Amino acid sequence: MANREFIKRAKKYLEEIYKPYNNKIYVPMPETRNLFLPVTIGCSYNKCLYCGLNKNIRFEKISLEEIEENLKKLQFITQYNRRKVEKFNLLGGNPLVLETEYLVEISRLIRKYFPKVKYISSFSRVDDILRKSHEELVLLKESKFNRLSLGIESGSDKILEFQRKGVTSKDNLAAMRKLEKVKLDYSAYIILGFGGVEYSRENAIETARLLNKVHPFELVVVNLVYFPNAPLLEKVRTGEFKRLSPLQSLEEEYLLLYKLEMENVVFNATHKNNTIAIKGKLPEHKNIMLKEIEKNIKKYSLKL
Ligand code: SF4
Repeated sequence: MANREFIKRAKKYLEEIYKPYNNKIYVPMPETRNLFLPVTIGCSYNKCLYCGLNKNIRFEKISLEEIEENLKKLQFITQYNRRKVEKFNLLGGNPLVLETEYLVEISRLIRKYFPKVKYISSFSRVDDILRKSHEELVLLKESKFNRLSLGIESGSDKILEFQRKGVTSKDNLAAMRKLEKVKLDYSAYIILGFGGVEYSRENAIETARLLNKVHPFELVVVNLVYFPNAPLLEKVRTGEFKRLSPLQSLEEEYLLLYKLEMENVVFNATHKNNTIAIKGKLPEHKNIMLKEIEKNIKKYSLKL
C-alpha cells in the first residue's frame, strides 16, 4: 500500500477507535507506552469527590464485536512497527468491573490479533478486585492480566471516607493481598494532599503504614489534581478543604517516603503535576530521594 494511503487510513482508524474518549485518554503512568484498547467508557462507580474525569459520562461496556473491530484496526496501524506489540492497556475508569468471562474473552481476542502479547494492564478499583474470587484472579493472571494499577490513594479511613472513595483502608489491604496471593503484579497509586492541610500528616503516616504491609512493583505518587468539575472544588471554595502548597506537598512526600520500609519497589513521583520529579528504587535510593526532597523543601521555604 502506498505510504500516503497507509497514513491516511491509519489516521482515520485512530480517530474512530479513540473517539468515545473525546481526546481525553487516561492511562496508568507505568503503562503509557502500551497499545490502548477501549473496553469501557466512563467509570461504573463515579462518586469520588475529587474526580472529574467521568462526570456526565454514562458508564458503557464496549461490545466484543466492536473490540474485535478495533483490534483489527490496531493490527493494521501497527503492522510496520519495528517491535511487535507486547503490552496492552485496557481503557476506561475501571475495566476490571467487567465480568471475568468477558475479560478472558477480551484477552483471547487480543492474543488472536497480537500473539506476542506479554501482558494486559488496566486501572482497577479495589472493590472490583475484592468482588473476584481467588479462582477468577488466577484465571485472569493466566489470561495475561498481569500489571494492574490500583487506585489506593491513601491509607487513612478518615480521608478515604471524606473523598467518597467507597472503600476502606482494610479493603485496600485485602485487595493488594489478594493479588499477591495469585502473584499478579500491580502498581499502587498514592495521592499527596488527599487529606488537605488538616490531614496531611495523617495521610503520610497512615499511607506508609498500609504500604509497609504490601508488595506492589511500583508506587505512583502524584499530587492531588483539582479537576474543574469535581465536587471537591466546592469544599475548597467554602474553606472546608484546604489545598496543600507546593512546600506542604513536599513535606508530606518527605514524611511518606521517610516512613516507608518497603523492599524491591519503585517510588515513582514523576507526574508533571508533582512539585518535583523524583524516582528511585526502595530501599537503595531512599536516602538520595529524601535528600533531594529536603533540598527542595529548603528552596521552597526561602520563597515564602
Ligand atoms: S477516581 Fe477512579 S474510581 Fe473514582 S470516580 Fe474517578 S474514575 Fe471512578
